[in-house]
Amino acid sequence: MPIYEFKCKKCGNEFEKFVLSYSQIKDVKCPKCGGEVEKKVSACAVGGSSGSTASGGSCTAFG
Ligand SMILES: [Zn+2]
Repeated sequence: MPIYEFKCKKCGNEFEKFVLSYSQIKDVKCPKCGGEVEKKVSACAVGGSSGSTASGGSCTAFG
């Protein structure tokens, strides 16, 4: 099921949201404050390096 974990950049609120398509992820807002959120990286961890901020675009294995 396409449920992704998000974290609010503004208030730090963490929540899960059902997202039908990947393009909807960028439209997700924090339900508490309406702030910008970032998707928590989960399934894309490939190597053993624990990068705290994985904002690279190399993880697009969807579909
Ligand atoms: Zn928030």
